[in-house]
Amino acid sequence: MSRAKDRKIKKLKKQRLWPYILGIILITLIMFGIIFSVSLFLLSNIFMNKFDEAINNSEKISQIIETKWDGESEEELEQIYQSILEFVPESEEICVYDLNKNIIYQSGEELPNWNIVEEDLSTDEAIWMLTYDEDSFFYLKDNESCVNFKPLEDYLENFFFGEETTADQYEDVEILKIKMWTAIKCDNYYICTKNIMSINESELAFPIVILMVLSSLEVVLVIYYLTSIISLVVERRKVARILETDMVTGGNNLQFFVKKGKKILKRNKNKSNYAVVIIRLEKYRNFCSCYGVHEGEELLELIYVTMSKMLSRKELVARGDKSDFALLLSYTTEEELRERLTHCVKHLCSTRARQSLEFSIGICKTDVVEGSVETLFNYAGVAIGNLAPDSDDRTVLFTDEMRKEELWNRRVENDLDRAIAKKEFMVYLQPKYSTKEEKLSGAEALIRWNHPTEGFVPPFRFIPILEKNGSIIKIDDYMISEVSRLQAKWMAEGKEVVPISVNVSRVHFARPDLAEHICRLVDEHNVPHHLIELELTESAFFDDKEALLTTINKLKEFGFEISMDDFGAGYSSLNSLKELPLDVLKLDAGFFREEDTDGRGKMIIGDTISLAKKLDMRIVAEGIETREQVDFLSTMDCDLIQGYYFAKPMPVSDFETKAFS
Ligand code: C2E
Ligand code: MG
Ligand code: MG
Repeated sequence: MSRAKDRKIKKLKKQRLWPYILGIILITLIMFGIIFSVSLFLLSNIFMNKFDEAINNSEKISQIIETKWDGESEEELEQIYQSILEFVPESEEICVYDLNKNIIYQSGEELPNWNIVEEDLSTDEAIWMLTYDEDSFFYLKDNESCVNFKPLEDYLENFFFGEETTADQYEDVEILKIKMWTAIKCDNYYICTKNIMSINESELAFPIVILMVLSSLEVVLVIYYLTSIISLVVERRKVARILETDMVTGGNNLQFFVKKGKKILKRNKNKSNYAVVIIRLEKYRNFCSCYGVHEGEELLELIYVTMSKMLSRKELVARGDKSDFALLLSYTTEEELRERLTHCVKHLCSTRARQSLEFSIGICKTDVVEGSVETLFNYAGVAIGNLAPDSDDRTVLFTDEMRKEELWNRRVENDLDRAIAKKEFMVYLQPKYSTKEEKLSGAEALIRWNHPTEGFVPPFRFIPILEKNGSIIKIDDYMISEVSRLQAKWMAEGKEVVPISVNVSRVHFARPDLAEHICRLVDEHNVPHHLIELELTESAFFDDKEALLTTINKLKEFGFEISMDDFGAGYSSLNSLKELPLDVLKLDAGFFREEDTDGRGKMIIGDTISLAKKLDMRIVAEGIETREQVDFLSTMDCDLIQGYYFAKPMPVSDFETKAFS
């Protein structure tokens, strides 16, 4: 799975869940805050009004007593008190104390609790005091209030959770009664009045309704957020399942394989041996062209189902790329594993006997290499990549050598940019000699890598890797620039320069402005274009011919010479010779390597040379190692010879000595 896709899926999984969780926390906190403040405000309002009422009553009583009572007769005081009760019925009882707090008169049984207000009595101002055992309300002087909510809490608790209604406990209508004693200092005595403040249901109705509305709002919001979270989690699970399902077979896809495989390995790796296997249906594209895509997809489904049936509970199958199937299998011995896979493949082939199916199998055992399931899967793929196309045994095991090779491949890819920047790549030059005069008349630039840890690395160890991943174009550019720089330097020094050929990879020809690009690289050093020759490998001629022809024509217009490298090494390219206006033909070293007992090889070389001559091309013979080969080529009208006989590829300084001294 690509990293971008992986990131997208992770993003989708994480999407929007945290705002809901944060929302639910914030809403709960805010709503609790609001409910608490509103209830505090509304209840304190009610209580303050009650206190005001009680205090007014007490003041009225004190005034009446003070004006009417002579301060001596208890009977008179009793009469005054009875008359007061008629218009201030809330004041149930009164007590009168002298200034030393000795009781003078008491209308009922109960006495106020003086201890609470001890210090405040020293002032001349009116003091209010109240008692209700420890659940009391205090109303102190200077209007500083301190409210004990215990009685109210009891009431509310009973209201919402109590088994009985408040009627039994709070006398039917008055649901809350609070007793409060007030003491008012007169000239010669204190008049203490007992007030009963009662709060009835109608007074509490409004705050309770407000609280219920706010609480309901909170509940609605919390439910909304909770359902959003739940639906998001459900949706994400659905999406995850879709993302883990292969659209063709309806089974698992690679993403699921990697995720689930990791869990299986974690739980069971110590209990049994495991291997990640790829079973690849070969030539699937051909199958589809023959039988149609629908039939092809049905076949993939059949393969998937067949493989699923052979699995135990702790094993796994998934469809990977194209026609690859990934398996996570447990096994006891390698033979048993191979047998099982062969059996599965045979079974598949027999179900579609008429369609002659071909399978390749790559096995990566978990005890051979460490790594994630994804890595092991890739390694199984690498193992298949190592299968020779004509091999009879289509099952291949991933080995440590393959892993080293794989690591090297990664290393080359990773080190490339640094190597270019640090000039670790070196230009070697292999001279080309004229056949007749045997004079140095040209050279080929060949790259060498002076790797900081690996030492001297020959091209075959990194060029194919870079060709595969497309980075070879960086090497080509580097070499063209370096060779141009050298030519410019030698020209400036007045040296008699010869044309130098540079290899241009076929990958580079995908670039539509390649001709202009090469032109720019060479022109940066003001080097005449005929001094740079461009070598194309034979395989390049199998790509988009039209684009190739356009680029070659442009390069020729710009004055560059083009040669076909390694002619005869791969498939015959006689057609290419006909179609492309090339300047040089480089005969591959293979022509001269094999023993030529009956002279057929020489005949072919001779005819190829005369054919190229007729097409107005020059000939360079590569890989010439013996005098005999040189002599033969001089009879054949070959123009140049490149090979160990004359010179091996050499560092620039050696070439300078050879060419210019
Ligand atoms: P090539 O372009 O065909 O280069 C000729 C190869 O033959 C060179 O190998 C050279 O050292 C070797 N050779 C020359 N004469 C003899 C001989 O008499 N006997 C034997 N046995 N070998 C001889 P080298 O340098 O290892 O390069 C191998 C290939 O790597 C090149 O084949 C070319 O395809 C590629 N290559 C090298 N340098 C570059 C480069 O700068 N860019 C690109 N794209 N490819 C390059
Ligand atoms: Mg070459
Ligand atoms: Mg060659």
